[in-house]
Amino acid sequence: MAQQHEFNDTKRLIYTYATLIFWITSLILRQYKDDLPYIGGLNTEFITLGMQLVGLAMLVIAMRYSKCPSCEKLAGGGILNLKKCKACGHALPE
Ligand SMILES: [Zn+2]
Repeated sequence: MAQQHEFNDTKRLIYTYATLIFWITSLILRQYKDDLPYIGGLNTEFITLGMQLVGLAMLVIAMRYSKCPSCEKLAGGGILNLKKCKACGHALPE
């Protein structure tokens, strides 16, 4: 059986914020791709796609740290600290 990550709200938040940073930056870059078709010799479209994939990987890691230690479902999401599991109400460690 694969090793599951323990619930860790700090790491969950770090990876959630990393996801948002990559996605928001890629969205902003996309707005300017007509004026800025290349960045450092790379196609801007290619860069934004890469950033979205990295963001997605960050989200997957964030979700691994979101598993409730009691019911093993996703305890919740968002950009604020989680106090208790939204699925079973189990109080989560700080
Ligand atoms: Zn739970």
